[in-house]
Amino acid sequence: MAWIDPNFPKTATVSALVGRVLGLNPGMMTGPGTNTYLLGRRDPILLDTGAGIPEYMNELAGYLTERGWKQPSRVVLTHRHRDHLGGVPHLRERFRGLPVGKMIHRDAELPEGIADLRDGATIEGDGVTLRAIYTPGHASDHLCYYLEEENAVFTGDVVLAGSTTVIPAEDGDLLDYMRSLERLRQLGVRRIYPAHGPVVEDGPALIAEYIEHRLLRERQILEVLGDGPRTIPAIVERVYAAVPKHLHAMAGQSVASHLKKLAREGRVREHPATDAPSRWELV
Ligand SMILES: [Zn+2]
Repeated sequence: MAWIDPNFPKTATVSALVGRVLGLNPGMMTGPGTNTYLLGRRDPILLDTGAGIPEYMNELAGYLTERGWKQPSRVVLTHRHRDHLGGVPHLRERFRGLPVGKMIHRDAELPEGIADLRDGATIEGDGVTLRAIYTPGHASDHLCYYLEEENAVFTGDVVLAGSTTVIPAEDGDLLDYMRSLERLRQLGVRRIYPAHGPVVEDGPALIAEYIEHRLLRERQILEVLGDGPRTIPAIVERVYAAVPKHLHAMAGQSVASHLKKLAREGRVREHPATDAPSRWELV
């Protein structure tokens, strides 16, 4: 299935306790768009809010009516990226006094009056119990939410269906990310509800695939450095030989995130150079 699937349903009831409304923001980074989820039997909790696309509010209203629901009881957010919290102002305009929560962590600017959610926080809805799980790596403020009644997890951008997760240079951290994947693995969930793409029925298999993919890249990078110090572009040339050139800049970011992780683990070190890319070597 294509990552940007034009036939991805705008709304869906994916389980007795979980409804899904698409954020209507398709793209390279978001696939079919950002998923927002409505959890519970009545007065559902809304998990993420999309990017703030105006038509989303109509989709959401239509779906609430279809389910015989008046409004969400509250909003919980996975992280600060705009395609997850951009819908908060529209929602508050429509539903006065709607409580909104997220982990507040290194946030430069957030809408007013957002409650702080911490690792382990329990959020009770109508027939649903969510537990916040701190999972940094893609973003330093990222929470996944474990749904007790289904032994399922809402992974936000930590695990996606149909693409790999980006580790942004400024706020991302691959070592944290690998630890977050390990934490998710240990939950032993059945289903994964990702922020982008369809429901994943075999959660453990996808998490294992994500971990293996990163470990494979790491082995490849270490192998290149085994031949002597190299710059990031030189590493990309070797490791991503099969990938088209126009994607090499993005691949360079991925290699940089690996080198940062390996440096934190004391396995490689950087030799900065003036007016040239740093060279990296094994310790
Ligand atoms: Zn994100």
